[in-house]
Amino acid sequence: MPTSPDRPVPDPPPAPDAAAVRPTFARVDLDAVRANYAAVVRHVSGPRTPLVIAVVKANAYGHGAVPVARALEQAGAAMLACADIEEAVTLRDGGIRAPILVFGALGISDLDGVFTHGLTPTVSSPFAARALSDAAARRGVTVTCHLKIDTGMNRLGFRFDNLDRTMQDVLGRPRLEIAAAYTHFATADDPAHPLFERQRERFYESLSRLAAMGIRPPLRHAANSAALLRDRNTWYDAVRPGLLLYGLVPPGVAASIPLAAAMTMRSRVVAVKGMRVGETTGYGARAPVDRPATIAVVPAGYADGLDVRMAGRGSVLVRGRRAPVVGAVSMDSITIDVTGLDVTPGDEVVLVGEQSGRRIGAGEIAAELGTVPHEVLCRTGSRIVRTYAGGADPARESAP
Ligand SMILES: *Cc1c(COP(=O)(O)O)cnc(C)c1O
Repeated sequence: MPTSPDRPVPDPPPAPDAAAVRPTFARVDLDAVRANYAAVVRHVSGPRTPLVIAVVKANAYGHGAVPVARALEQAGAAMLACADIEEAVTLRDGGIRAPILVFGALGISDLDGVFTHGLTPTVSSPFAARALSDAAARRGVTVTCHLKIDTGMNRLGFRFDNLDRTMQDVLGRPRLEIAAAYTHFATADDPAHPLFERQRERFYESLSRLAAMGIRPPLRHAANSAALLRDRNTWYDAVRPGLLLYGLVPPGVAASIPLAAAMTMRSRVVAVKGMRVGETTGYGARAPVDRPATIAVVPAGYADGLDVRMAGRGSVLVRGRRAPVVGAVSMDSITIDVTGLDVTPGDEVVLVGEQSGRRIGAGEIAAELGTVPHEVLCRTGSRIVRTYAGGADPARESAP
């Protein structure tokens, strides 16, 4: 429709405020991420302060890889780490300049990214050593890499008890510059498990074996969050925290440093209704109510990352009180019992975070569900818009 001359041309519509478009959204506090990073640095500071390799795999544990990596880079992180080459390329495309260690196994087809994006790959098998060395030779360059030693996780890495043989494959490859040797603990968050000590000893012995073969990498590293809190003998030249940067202490380990949770997730009540005795809500028609109840519908479901096991177990905050999740968790919604709480549509619901002094943390949710906080954070769905506070550049990452 043409604009009539006597009416002012309307302003272009404001850029959509995603948080206003969808009631369920996440807020990530980059100041908290930076403060957590600083707390880790303080904790490991001493006569031989190790470097901190900041782990931002899995979209920075669900927090949004690029804004978080940028905040960590600003905070001084010497190196970032992620799971695969594709994740690392996303970081480079987002302007991240810091060295990026790629933890995962190297495929055959994706090796280009190592060279085109200046990444630091992990070599964890003779096969990977050969593939990487051949790719470097084709380009006429050498490539800096980290060697991974398997000391008992039995996942990726050169077996600790077979290095004499497997290292021959690495030694004969001058295109590989080995900047580090590392290992990863399987049970660092379980103080009662004997494998942790065994892995620590095996790594120590592996480093001697490597040295005897002439492999003396300038960096040695082993500690994830749990290990670095638990045992300073695991610090070596670098530590690799993930969880701590997001404000979480691994379950099973005492919290000895001050941390702030970096992510909150909120929504709003979209409907309130009554239920009579014996009625049920949601799929499966389970758990009939034994008294007249008031329930509220919250537009966040398993597609947003909520766990179906929250049904009858989890709770949320509304009007400053805890309201239990009742009925099944649906794809797009949950129902909560708000009997007696005077809830109306539009009221704020906190899924993860604080309201009126009460809080629900990812650690608590993980304990309720019988999982680890990592999983709870990583689940945050792709359609959840992350908004950022505390960024020098308040980037807004919208999901499609
Ligand atoms: C994920 C990961 C870490 C970080 O673990 P957190 O428990 O989150 O601190 C460190 N090292 C490796 C190899 C990892 O895969």
